Amino acid sequence: MSAVIGRAMPVLPAAGEWQQHATCSRQPTLFDSEEPKDVAAAKAHCRRCPVQDICLRSALAEERNDSQWARFGVRGGLDPVQRAQLAGVTPATDTLENPDTLRAADELLHAGELSDAAIGRQLGVRKQTIRDRRITLGIPPLAERVAAARTVRRLLSEYAVPAEDGHVLWNRPGFRPEIDGRQYSGPQLAFVAEHGRAPEGKVQAVCGRAGCIAGGHLTDRSLREARVAA
Ligand code: SF4
Ligand SMILES: [Zn+2]
Repeated sequence: MSAVIGRAMPVLPAAGEWQQHATCSRQPTLFDSEEPKDVAAAKAHCRRCPVQDICLRSALAEERNDSQWARFGVRGGLDPVQRAQLAGVTPATDTLENPDTLRAADELLHAGELSDAAIGRQLGVRKQTIRDRRITLGIPPLAERVAAARTVRRLLSEYAVPAEDGHVLWNRPGFRPEIDGRQYSGPQLAFVAEHGRAPEGKVQAVCGRAGCIAGGHLTDRSLREARVAA
């Protein structure tokens, strides 16, 4: 494959021109976004593509400033590891065998602020490997977490009513909206919004105001246990 890039290349057509002859655009399922399901078939398709050479050169040029993790998909007949090798870059690792890397991946996944791709970039690990680890840990994808957080905020803006002295009341008693297959009471929603995680056990207001759902006034079992331990 590396011979492809070593051959004398034709003069490059104007940017965008050669893409009109890219036959992968007619095979959207085969060249499915970042991770083709059938890499061998995608490569075989590229070998019959009239613009394989320029496609590969273009991919290498685009990726020249990327470190190993940023290469995804089959382009110009090569997979990300082959392109990284061709560019003289160490390919991204596809394992989390290094304990430090595994610990860092788990921390970033639990923090819930970065996508699988962003975590992969940070750690030099393939996105797919981070994704597999996230699934093992039972953590939903970032997009779902963002959507859920948005839903939580919307529900609270609709049904949480400020009361005197900084307390907040839930004005839909008995209403338990479902998010990601789990039902939440008003206090549970407010707890999620305050702490960024689902509560463990019963949510209780420690302010003494019956029915208060002010985020900072709420505790769950793990917070109560931590306070007792402290
Ligand atoms: S070489 Fe492959 S990825 Fe590149 S344009 Fe052709 S079919 Fe698409
Ligand atoms: Zn309160």
